[in-house]
Amino acid sequence: MPFLQTRWRTLVRLSDERYEEIKEEVVELYKELHITKFPVNAMDVCKQLGIAYKSYNQFTSRTFAAIIRASEDGMVAKIDKKFVIFYNPSKSAERIRSTFFHEIGHIRLGHKIHDEENEAEANFFASYFLVPVPLIHYFGLRFAQEIMDKFWVTFTLANYSLDRYQKRIRYSGTVFTQYENDLISLAKEEEKEF
Ligand SMILES: [Zn+2]
Repeated sequence: MPFLQTRWRTLVRLSDERYEEIKEEVVELYKELHITKFPVNAMDVCKQLGIAYKSYNQFTSRTFAAIIRASEDGMVAKIDKKFVIFYNPSKSAERIRSTFFHEIGHIRLGHKIHDEENEAEANFFASYFLVPVPLIHYFGLRFAQEIMDKFWVTFTLANYSLDRYQKRIRYSGTVFTQYENDLISLAKEEEKEF
């Protein structure tokens, strides 16, 4: 039963091409699930993708202790051909959401092994899924607090995303790529529903 553990801190920097591929992969999933509302519900996404999830609480206390040591936040395993995400329920709701999308990232990016590079990829997948940078622009969010309120994420992730957004605008202005426009089109549908 291969376990991919979550290890958050990694200093690996991916290539610019790889960042672009992962962003496109995130947008593909947005389109596939037709996500138009925020914050995105992690457990709904799992249900739609046929991914099971279980809290660490289901383990006996001895196993629980061992699992916490191995991975504090969560992990993903393939059991009987089905992916199962295990998560630590004692973390904050924002952090659990990050864990879910990190593990979904491992699954969607087809990771087979647990190494620094895959960790960096899953972290980036989760951050872009939780806070799609073009939508910071679309919703006119200017402060970390506004990003936290809209997308239900931690202050750390809100700040990181704001930083990416500002760099993005500095380097290439508001000329959006196809996948960025696709994201904005989905977000526009949310507004039509009200
Ligand atoms: Zn991981």
